[in-house]
Amino acid sequence: MAEPEKEAHGFVGAAADAFLRRRIHRQRMRTAGLRALREVVSQADLMRMDFDDAAEVFGRAAPWMTSYDAEVARTRRRRGQTRVPCLSVVMLVVGTRGDVQPFVVIGTRLARKNHRVRLATHAEFRPMVESAGLEFYPLAGDPRELVEYMIRTGGRLVPTRLDHIVEDVPRKRAVIGEILESTWRACTEQDPDDPAAKPFSAEWIIANPPSYGHIHCAEALDVPLHMVFTMPWTATSAFPHPMTRVPAGEHRPVRNFLSYGVANALMWGGVADVVNGFRENSLGLSSIDLAQGPSLLEDAEVPLTYLFPESVVPRPPDWGPHIDLTNFVFLDKGQTFEPPPELEAFLAAGKPPIYVGFGSTVVPDPAALTRTVFQALANAGARGIVSRGWGDVGHEAPPPHVHVIDDTPHDWLFPRCSVVCHHGGAGTTAAGLRAGLPTVVVPFFGDQFFWGQIVADAGAGPPCLPASDLTAEKLAEAFTACMASEIRGNARTLGRRIRAKDGADMTVASLYRQLPLRAMRCARDPGHLATVYCDPCRLRLCQSCYHDTHDGHRSHPYRYVDWSIRPVRKVSRELRDFVADAVGAVRAGLGEILPLGAPRRSGVVVGTRERGEKTARGVVWKAGRPEPSQPPG
Ligand SMILES: [Zn+2]
Ligand SMILES: [Zn+2]
Repeated sequence: MAEPEKEAHGFVGAAADAFLRRRIHRQRMRTAGLRALREVVSQADLMRMDFDDAAEVFGRAAPWMTSYDAEVARTRRRRGQTRVPCLSVVMLVVGTRGDVQPFVVIGTRLARKNHRVRLATHAEFRPMVESAGLEFYPLAGDPRELVEYMIRTGGRLVPTRLDHIVEDVPRKRAVIGEILESTWRACTEQDPDDPAAKPFSAEWIIANPPSYGHIHCAEALDVPLHMVFTMPWTATSAFPHPMTRVPAGEHRPVRNFLSYGVANALMWGGVADVVNGFRENSLGLSSIDLAQGPSLLEDAEVPLTYLFPESVVPRPPDWGPHIDLTNFVFLDKGQTFEPPPELEAFLAAGKPPIYVGFGSTVVPDPAALTRTVFQALANAGARGIVSRGWGDVGHEAPPPHVHVIDDTPHDWLFPRCSVVCHHGGAGTTAAGLRAGLPTVVVPFFGDQFFWGQIVADAGAGPPCLPASDLTAEKLAEAFTACMASEIRGNARTLGRRIRAKDGADMTVASLYRQLPLRAMRCARDPGHLATVYCDPCRLRLCQSCYHDTHDGHRSHPYRYVDWSIRPVRKVSRELRDFVADAVGAVRAGLGEILPLGAPRRSGVVVGTRERGEKTARGVVWKAGRPEPSQPPG
């Protein structure tokens, strides 16, 4: 009887109710967890939590969770038996070419299943999208500007220096405002550059997290939302947020988990008023407060598919069933590639070379980096193919053991190489691992350090070499390490595993699995999307069934997803305090939880009160520093 009023009106079917219940489940559980927590200690590499089982909130939550389990079980049994109605799908993607390419492939697979697919991304990618046969819509924002911003701030999520804050934040906020406005047009308007374009209204939104507008547009349209991303974005104790760096040590799992909350709070804190302005003025929605903003996607358990396989990033056990790991998705171009004769001659003239390329990364001193790379190849006694992408590399004549190339498809080139060395971009890392090659990662900023760590953890390469202190000696040592049979064997095995599974097909299956299909389909014709609810007949119907057989019956528009349910203020108070403390700590200098090279300032803690303090409303847990580990009993 979770939604008695709605059931009385017959608006929402049982499955839709279940879908809504599942969305608030996580918020209730988290609040229950915070209230009933006795202590958290870090032991070895596990975070041990002790709960007060007598807490009354547990008694109330338990039956509720049982019904949730049963609903999940029923959903599992239904899998694979359902037809998916043809939908107008919009994919909102903000990022670089490498971020957009997988969505071209996934969009093509969806279009093959008769969906109308629009890929909304930056204007410069229009040719790539349209040549794949997909509809295009231009989003605001220049991907290069975002990359440059990351370099200027040293890969940090927020600038830590006052001059950066003064210069960069206003500009970045303006860009985010433009991106937000353009995501709503992408969901609802015709292509502005094609006068003959058909009207468009999104019935399903697929998005990557940096596109910002996703959940707000989904809430305004009452349509399903599914996130797809190339790097981890869901809180886990297994590894830190990929855009953060967290010190090692016994409390690492807790720090890892906290890094997500803080990163989200930071990102939200910087743009909250921009997002709320968009919600109120453009979408006519209510604004979102400090407690809800940073964790909208996680609290609502928005389904999320990660485009990397468990063989590369082991699935963290604390990720819920709404999260799927599939596989890398590649937009291959090798089959149509005509190699220049000089490249073919170089490849044929000796042993397979080492590939070195840093993508479109803007390198501070390209000439120095070029000399380092040439010298390292010579020291290791290896031949090298060096990609010109990053600046001045071609200005000096390369030595005979090096060949300099322009843009060359990875799927053609990498199988002809022995080792790859790159900046650790998600796409290049994936291409190198798929080819089964030992990998040397030279990270410059952001998630590149994460991918360097992943490669080393998988045994497919040596520990990564940060670009800031790269030398010819260190690089040559890394190249030599890649010739060792153990690393070569690990990389070969990993490559075989990656090649064995089609990431795009797995991703489409994951997208389908998470759709609330029972609530979406016309009761008379499961292949059609229900958009009308016939009141006297108590049926969800598609337009054609309604007009054919229910014309004149009293009806309502029918929506199958409601994203507007959020915990009431009373429930979210603990969360708001928790987030406010994190934001306060960050404003005071970041030092305590995310040492970023800046000196620590005294008095910066997450939470002014330590865990367990009694207040008027019972025990309130704050993210205080965890106690030293103690043996149980
Ligand atoms: Zn129908
Ligand atoms: Zn009727």
